[in-house]
Amino acid sequence: MLRFEATLTWPLGRKQGLTGEFRVGNPLRSPDYAERVRSDPARLRFEITARDGRARAGRLHTPHGEVATPAFIPLATRGSVRALDATEVAGLGYEMVLGNTYHLLLSPGPDRIEKLGGLHRFMGWDRAIITDSGGFQVFSLAHGAVADEIKGRRGQAPGKEHVLEISEQGVRFRSYLDGGEHMLSPERSMEVQAALGSDIALAFDECTPYHADRDYTARSTERTHRWLDRCLAWHTERGPERQAVFGIVQGGVYEDLRHGSAEAVSAAGVDGIAIGGTLGREKPEMYAVLDATLPRLPDEAPRHLLGIGEPDDLVEGIARGVELFDCAIPTRHARHGMALAPDPGSSFRINLRNAAMAEDERPLVEGCGCAACARHTRAYIHYLSRAEEMTGVRLLALHNLAYAEAIVAGAREAIAAARYGAYREGIIGGAAPWGA
Ligand SMILES: [Zn+2]
Repeated sequence: MLRFEATLTWPLGRKQGLTGEFRVGNPLRSPDYAERVRSDPARLRFEITARDGRARAGRLHTPHGEVATPAFIPLATRGSVRALDATEVAGLGYEMVLGNTYHLLLSPGPDRIEKLGGLHRFMGWDRAIITDSGGFQVFSLAHGAVADEIKGRRGQAPGKEHVLEISEQGVRFRSYLDGGEHMLSPERSMEVQAALGSDIALAFDECTPYHADRDYTARSTERTHRWLDRCLAWHTERGPERQAVFGIVQGGVYEDLRHGSAEAVSAAGVDGIAIGGTLGREKPEMYAVLDATLPRLPDEAPRHLLGIGEPDDLVEGIARGVELFDCAIPTRHARHGMALAPDPGSSFRINLRNAAMAEDERPLVEGCGCAACARHTRAYIHYLSRAEEMTGVRLLALHNLAYAEAIVAGAREAIAAARYGAYREGIIGGAAPWGA
């Protein structure tokens, strides 16, 4: 059985001019699981091509193409990256987007998307897609708190009154759209993600909030591990052959719970590992959670930090060995008239609605090559944003997503050139990603 878990050097890789090793079979999977499920090594391969300290650069090979890592993943919560067309998102250099199980379940529904050829075809996006499990949203309905912490909200959730029951089976809730009753369980979440046809599905978990005490967090984390087993059991039997599954490490801000969860998820037989739940209220607390978790994860697993993506968080996460980040910030900032900028004194953003911008003829960020900065002034975007013109949102979304991509692209180059420490210091200190 163990022969399926051997790490092999694939000769074709060298022919294609790739360095590093392809892994045939996932060493994370238990032998039993590997034999039953991993018949297609093209499902997901993660290749690390360069390291600098704990930072890694590489490629994730998915059925819908390669994703260069570290990568920022824009949210396509309801099947679109807000205000942008799929070709514009690809044009910014993005190779993967994140779709949301909760929202797509409620509308237009997984059956319709499947009938129309799956989420890739439905939204006109032929690159990789990762789907959220819906756990974050249904538990945000119940707890209401995680999104108010430092973590950016992955999609919006309505109020607490919509959750009917949380049990070992799953979460029963009412649709905020039509009042219809739904159940999200490990099996139902995997079934919806299978219908959407994403390249990577996330296991259904409880996203514990900061205010949950240690006892609650411990019991919830144990249940998340049982739910992971149920997700994998369903996927083994009925999941799409070429869809990968990531498990999610929980444990709140408690170091011993994070350790236990990192070990449990690593042993479960997953294709990659995400880090979820509360990461604290202050950034040092988040970095402490990452320091407690990442060294406990298998080196060869791709690691995804859920819901995090401010410029300083990206470079600090990458420094600790994270390669995938998704976050609402670039598109949400755009709707609120804000542009990402190399300004650590103001949370790496500038507010275009400020009166000071009214006659400012500079671009959003000097030296930025995005479509908004190439042709427009802060004064114009200030005017559009205050007038709530759609074009203002679009220009800011284009800039913010170009800026986030520039940060991770700069990180990939810096890791390959073994100068990541200087790059990280540059970004934290206020350098633009193209000059750091
Ligand atoms: Zn720009």
